[in-house]
Amino acid sequence: MSEETAPALPCIVCGKQLRDAMHSEDALGPPERNQPYAGTAFTTNGHYGSTVFDEVFGQTIEINVCDICLLDAAREHKVMFFVARRKTEYTDRGWWVPDVDEERVREIDRKRHG
Ligand SMILES: [Zn+2]
Repeated sequence: MSEETAPALPCIVCGKQLRDAMHSEDALGPPERNQPYAGTAFTTNGHYGSTVFDEVFGQTIEINVCDICLLDAAREHKVMFFVARRKTEYTDRGWWVPDVDEERVREIDRKRHG
């Protein structure tokens, strides 16, 4: 496999192009699967209250956030964390506090994205 990999979706916050973690050789275009390296994919079926996406027939949208933007957002208390036991029962609710070596994450990001 080549070192250059097909892209996953870009980070929706900073616009950084993320690479596919699975070293796909897929062509450009919407990825058949979105498995970002140094990023996380988020899916939603929308929800009541959204004025742009509140789908009731199963359609789904997916976005990526790179690890750096996710860490920054967590620090700013923009990311919720909980353990979902049932869809309507959430426990341990609070702010997400990443348990990572942030310097290592930033080093990986610099190596992968310049
Ligand atoms: Zn980002």
